[in-house]
Amino acid sequence: MDDWRLQGQEKYLAKKELVYKLYTSNNPLWDHDHCEFCNERISLLPEDRNYGYTTLDDYYWICEDCFNDFKDQFGWTVVANGNEKGNESSVK
Ligand SMILES: [Zn+2]
Repeated sequence: MDDWRLQGQEKYLAKKELVYKLYTSNNPLWDHDHCEFCNERISLLPEDRNYGYTTLDDYYWICEDCFNDFKDQFGWTVVANGNEKGNESSVK
């Protein structure tokens, strides 16, 4: 695959567990983030994407389009909620 959005993300994003959720910042100085692939803004602002896929530490964000385009290539696993890891039985 030769896509402009691919810039070595497999080094840190391959085979990660991701959570789909409303944007939250892990840094009080930031009110938004960018998709790791296409650089789309993800934030709580109405003009931006509000939901995305994020690593369990909320550090990397991936928009829905890029998630769908690259999920097979990267082998991602979607988990229901990073805070409930190991408690999958309660998740539908
Ligand atoms: Zn994207």
